[in-house]
Amino acid sequence: MRKRILIVEDEASIRDMVAFALHRADMEPVHAADARAAQHAIAEAIPDLILLDWMLPGTSGLELARRLRREESTREIPIIMLTARGEEIDRVNGLEAGVDDYVVKPFSTRELLARIRAVLRRTQGDDGSGTIEIGNLRVDGPAHRVYANNEPVQIGPTEYRLLHFFVTHPERVYSRAQLLDHVWGGSVYVEERTVDVHIRRLRQTLEPHGLANMVQTVRGAGYRFSAQA
Ligand code: CA
Repeated sequence: MRKRILIVEDEASIRDMVAFALHRADMEPVHAADARAAQHAIAEAIPDLILLDWMLPGTSGLELARRLRREESTREIPIIMLTARGEEIDRVNGLEAGVDDYVVKPFSTRELLARIRAVLRRTQGDDGSGTIEIGNLRVDGPAHRVYANNEPVQIGPTEYRLLHFFVTHPERVYSRAQLLDHVWGGSVYVEERTVDVHIRRLRQTLEPHGLANMVQTVRGAGYRFSAQA
């Protein structure tokens, strides 16, 4: 899933530069030139993250951040402030209810992307590159590859789909019926014991890498994928 990033910045040149970099990083940039436009954009679709300029015409970036934190529907959206001066940085640091990170202007798009990924990883567990790391296991979504302790893992297509679902939904118990729905698309031709067959194969796939115990049976409930053995 492409990450939707809202850029709230009145300087068109900075907005365009950031949007270009986000595009290249396979993210979806959304533009807003002021707080009002930002609120419209948020009402249309909640972004995965907001890049918020401190100095905006009208309502300041700081005031907008406070508003977003007060509203239940927007409270959880990660915010990175774009700031210009030392004084502003002190105030961003002092923000208790505040922002997730800040970047000082002028910044490189490379630095900005690294900050965005770090905040997404911390807040959503997924940095937008499609690669997910849990314990010693790494699943590279775009390449459909799996690595255990940095070694490539040979995995069948159904086991891959099952594993991908698990790593994107860790530490939760799913019944066989729920796994059928999510991984097999709820096909009526597949029986629940099919899940058990592929769970067994997935464990056999992970076994030589010492990671089979990440796939856990929860008696009477189903299965759970966990980083904690
Ligand atoms: Ca500005």
